[in-house]
Amino acid sequence: MNVILKSVITCPECGFRKQELMPEDSCVFFYECEKCKTVLKPHKGDCCVFCSYGTVKCPPQQKGNKCCD
Ligand SMILES: [Zn+2]
Repeated sequence: MNVILKSVITCPECGFRKQELMPEDSCVFFYECEKCKTVLKPHKGDCCVFCSYGTVKCPPQQKGNKCCD
């Protein structure tokens, strides 16, 4: 199975984009924007910041696992 580990996060506050490496088996709940220092949290119903703000859903979601609800 091909799991994509790279995702580009877009900050909803300032629009800053950065490619990040996602942990393969866990979720990231908090992510601080490098530029404006806003701490991003997942949208309601999303498990992690990559699912909410990234170009790719997190690895557990890609594998079809419900990782953290
Ligand atoms: Zn920002």
